[in-house]
Amino acid sequence: MKKDDLIDIIIEDIGSDGAGVGKADGFTLFVKDTIPGDRAKVKIMKMKKRYGYARLMELITPSPDRVQPPCPVARQCGGCQIQAMAYEKQLAFKENKVKNNLQRIGGLNPDSFEMEPISGMEQPFGYRNKAQFPIGRDKNGKIVAGFYAGRTHSIIANTNCSLGVPQNEQILKKVISWMETCHIEPYDETNGQGLLRHVLIRFGFTTKEIMVCLVINGRKLPKSRELSASLNEIPGMTSITANINMERTNVILGKDLILISGKPYIEDYIGDIKYQISPLSFFQVNPVQTRNLYGKALEYAGLTGNETVWDLYCGIGTISLFLARKAKKVYGVEIVPEAIADARNNAKINGIKNAEFYVGKAEEVLPEKYRTEGIKADVIVIDPPRKGCDEALLDTIVKMQPQRVVYVSCDSATLARDLKYMKERGYEVEKGEAVDMFPMTVHVETVVLLSHKKPDSVINVKVAFGEGEGKVPLDNIVKRAASYKPKERVTYKMIKEYIEAKYGFKVHTAYIAEVKRDLGLPMYDAPNAVEELKQPRKHPTAEKVQAIKDALKFFDVGINCDH
Ligand code: SAH
Repeated sequence: MKKDDLIDIIIEDIGSDGAGVGKADGFTLFVKDTIPGDRAKVKIMKMKKRYGYARLMELITPSPDRVQPPCPVARQCGGCQIQAMAYEKQLAFKENKVKNNLQRIGGLNPDSFEMEPISGMEQPFGYRNKAQFPIGRDKNGKIVAGFYAGRTHSIIANTNCSLGVPQNEQILKKVISWMETCHIEPYDETNGQGLLRHVLIRFGFTTKEIMVCLVINGRKLPKSRELSASLNEIPGMTSITANINMERTNVILGKDLILISGKPYIEDYIGDIKYQISPLSFFQVNPVQTRNLYGKALEYAGLTGNETVWDLYCGIGTISLFLARKAKKVYGVEIVPEAIADARNNAKINGIKNAEFYVGKAEEVLPEKYRTEGIKADVIVIDPPRKGCDEALLDTIVKMQPQRVVYVSCDSATLARDLKYMKERGYEVEKGEAVDMFPMTVHVETVVLLSHKKPDSVINVKVAFGEGEGKVPLDNIVKRAASYKPKERVTYKMIKEYIEAKYGFKVHTAYIAEVKRDLGLPMYDAPNAVEELKQPRKHPTAEKVQAIKDALKFFDVGINCDH
């Protein structure tokens, strides 16, 4: 198989980046824009030793799971990898992927824990509260907002992403018409010229507050009054800012912000916790499913109000604050200082006083605190990035022995690896649930409850020893203890020694065996014993038979005989 070959292939799976996966001639081929069940004609684009990449040329037989993607530019955009797959099939695929990883990589027996049904969305479109649109010129020189056409600098216009909110389109239209009337140049990646690079939009699903942030290649935004007058016509417009990014980089946001109109942040809720979100803040993009995922984490944490909880990789403290209302104390650890500043602020605006946050690496902060302060935890929650947890962290968790560990994961493969590690160190996976945070993409979140293995139950019994009513006499205990003592293993050697000591003569093993056989005693497993005579031999004398019987009686062999 080589580049440019045309091949007929059946797609069987979906790869980690969303491409369809099929087999041809023993090679694995990744084919973008296909889904399991498709039979397709594909063209080989690149071959490696065992696998290759191919392009979809023609769908010979479309998969029965195919649907018409609602977004007309789904294929060029690539942001949604599986929009062409019916939503319930997406859910089944994700659920299976998680289960398979837990079994294959984690070595978990599916019967040994409860996998709850995947939590999907009723409305799997329009779920994102955040969108970032690059601004540029299209082939005809017209100012457009949209997305970069795969690996190029040209922008394909699309102001109506089906994962985003309808307000995006209205905002982008206003920004573009302001640019045209006020002669604001879009940024040109190829030469670093022009002003407006990106428009970042955030929408509070609960509060309906809107934030618009213009990312600019300059220190100030000209004609900003005209812009804010136009944008403020949109109901809910709460925060208009400019972000300065003068670097030639793919990173979207710079560090500095200028307030153009309104507040420097919007507010929104997850559950009943309020968050202040600035253009630079991290905030989960799907608030509906975040509520479901963290609600599950809260349920698994099993809090009664007395617990000390550690929330590791806590970000802006979404989980910490969620748990704080039901716990005695919550500690959060996160590597990004700005996120911790947000977490502390969010604790304050919600009047939460029992949450404390530390900046640092989870795998350094927790071991250090455990070593120097002997900190304790009843419940530990972990929500690491894709690469999962560092072993140093898992080792400390094992040492701290929390009753429950709740593991929230965005990559079920590293989750499974870490669960295996914990399982080998005294933790048991009790249950788990996959949550579809990102419909139309291949990503899936999973939450798992681990609990510390303890004896099934402990009974406390009070006993008084001595003489008298209700007391247990001590000599009875001694007697009973003696009867419980396992009998000593009686060996041929012991019998021989006994006989030699008592009668002054030696007996052959074969004679002992013969006597035992005559007495109908079991004959087995004596190492080195010759229980079957290799050749006919003289029988033991009566005296020796008598001595052997005596020895067997002494050792109680008739009752409990090993050989
Ligand atoms: N639960 C959080 C999000 C977790 S995402 C929330 O809802 O806000 C994973 C987080 O881990 C990110 O915020 C990332 O900055 C942080 N992180 C990455 N590596 C880390 C490490 N070694 N120690 C602590 N935090 C880390």
